[in-house]
Amino acid sequence: MSLPALPVPTALPLLTRRAALLGTGGLLALPALGHAAQPAAPTVWPQALAVPGGVARLSLGPAAKRPLAHVRQGDADVPVLVVGDAIEWTALVGIPLAAALGEAHITVVQADGSSARRVPYAVASKRYAEQQLKVSPRTVDLSPEDQARYERERDHQAVVMATFSEPAGGTLQSLRMQVPVPGRRSSSFGLRRVFNGQPRNPHSGMDIAAATGTPVVAPLPARVIDVGDYFFNGGTVWLDHGQGLLSMYCHLSSMDARVGDVLQAGEAFCQVGATGRVTGPHLHWGVMLNRTMVDPSLFIPA
Ligand code: ZN
Repeated sequence: MSLPALPVPTALPLLTRRAALLGTGGLLALPALGHAAQPAAPTVWPQALAVPGGVARLSLGPAAKRPLAHVRQGDADVPVLVVGDAIEWTALVGIPLAAALGEAHITVVQADGSSARRVPYAVASKRYAEQQLKVSPRTVDLSPEDQARYERERDHQAVVMATFSEPAGGTLQSLRMQVPVPGRRSSSFGLRRVFNGQPRNPHSGMDIAAATGTPVVAPLPARVIDVGDYFFNGGTVWLDHGQGLLSMYCHLSSMDARVGDVLQAGEAFCQVGATGRVTGPHLHWGVMLNRTMVDPSLFIPA
């Protein structure tokens, strides 16, 4: 089923491979498409939703020490976040928007390196809405200078996205996130975007409407791992929450943080803006697990 085309803002974002990588594309907060029915309020976070762009929650059972888990992504074994205690460990696996449906698995090894085993899960389908956008054809092709800049930034971001740190204290506590800014949260994650009739990569974050200068707060305790001004994403900060759980903030007007800063949950570290390819001020908020952008709404109360 195709939805009616959304109103097309003026001065639309460029269609770019950069946007394809991170899926931001500088979208302004979108008209609400209607939120999917919410499951019963969970007591643990994030909400489990084993669909492309969602999170699989896998029981690993008891063990004296936290087991190690990996998921195969392309030609890499990517470490997976594992939380819990000696009575029950749980793996939280980010599922790529481009994931194949059906059976998937992680590999789990005990902390002492023994008894590697597969833990399977099934990826169910989720149909994300389609968004039709029109852009000037000449904005599709970058100048050689911009192309070179984009490629440098892409390579740098790939290093940032591969961050995997061990949390202080040995294990993460609650993963329930605070909303980083107040404001209307669009249901824009996963939108299948069609530019000038050509399907492109989907939107991989949540857009929150807010005025330039609105403080943005850390949704969980964090360490700042990247601060930059990028061609498409504008002023951008990446936070590391531990074990491959990262979050990303784009189009910022002010970045009051330096790499290495340690933030408490709720601590302001930057401000909403309209930098990069945007049509107006908003926060683009991305949440990443095992190098996979997942739906931020799974981490916050409805
Ligand atoms: Zn966005």
